[in-house]
Amino acid sequence: MTAQLKPSPLSATVDFNADGVQHGFLRLPYSRDDAAWGSVMIPVTVVKNGKGPTALLTGANHGDEYEGPIALFDLAHTLRADEVSGRVIIIPAMNQPAFAAGTRTSPIDRGNMNRSFPGRPDGTVTEKIADYFQRVLLPMADVVLDFHSGGKTLDFLPFCAAHILPNKEQEAKAFRLVQAFGAPYSVKMLEIDAVGMYDTAAEEMGKILVTTELGGGGTASGRTAGIAITGCRNVLIAAGIVKGEVVAQPTQWLDMPDADCFTFAEDAGLIRFCADLGDRVVRGQTIAMIYPTSRTGLAPVALKVQRAGLFTARHFPGLVKPGDCVAVIAEEIAS
Ligand SMILES: [Zn+2]
Repeated sequence: MTAQLKPSPLSATVDFNADGVQHGFLRLPYSRDDAAWGSVMIPVTVVKNGKGPTALLTGANHGDEYEGPIALFDLAHTLRADEVSGRVIIIPAMNQPAFAAGTRTSPIDRGNMNRSFPGRPDGTVTEKIADYFQRVLLPMADVVLDFHSGGKTLDFLPFCAAHILPNKEQEAKAFRLVQAFGAPYSVKMLEIDAVGMYDTAAEEMGKILVTTELGGGGTASGRTAGIAITGCRNVLIAAGIVKGEVVAQPTQWLDMPDADCFTFAEDAGLIRFCADLGDRVVRGQTIAMIYPTSRTGLAPVALKVQRAGLFTARHFPGLVKPGDCVAVIAEEIAS
């Protein structure tokens, strides 16, 4: 038996059951040096019209990933109630303290939102936010779209993704929404470290979860912002929650079947990539060279990929440390 959990300390200034468009906040009391009775204020928009399924849309699960917040701040001020059949809950900055600081994790508690589930009502700020999603928001949802990008340390080919799941009916529904999103690439993901993830929390409740990796480097390009805005509406239309026609886009399906997709650095140094995102590579090909920088005259270390495929993600900063993920190679597959 699990002990009875305390109520969440978060409160919403919106009524999730009221029809119409409401803009408000999830307010979490947070006492600190500059505000003894201060709060963390997480912006939220609810657009509801009658009965129908609920979509829960989130950006800035990691605070330095920008396509999601762009798409969701845009949607929050453009979506009208008469376009909706059901309910759309829009939270552009899920980890608001991290988003405000422009960092992956929270500056308050170093909390990584996507490793903090199911959270705790009496835990850190990040754990309290996770607990509110776990016990209040996720149970309301049918469809969950959680936006990610590479942040400051990774860069991705723009893709929408869902996970390989034990429940094949749930998996098929998620892949149908990935196809509708219409990113240039669509990925069937096998998660190698799923403990504590928001994705896992949603999937274990039987929700249809769709996620993205839309770029990176700690910014958003015009192209990737456009992909996010179009893809978000496409998912809502395909789920039957927003009226309209899906803007059909060609997409290349990719598979990341096992750990051989990932190449990690074992040395520190200056990284020189020998291929670029979107290039096809062969098994054993040198994807990057790492130059030792403590002195001159030292040979670089060659990093070789363990499988053939499409160069899908890469380390972004110019310097690399032992253990950093340098490259991800995915396999092109038929949809
Ligand atoms: Zn992320």
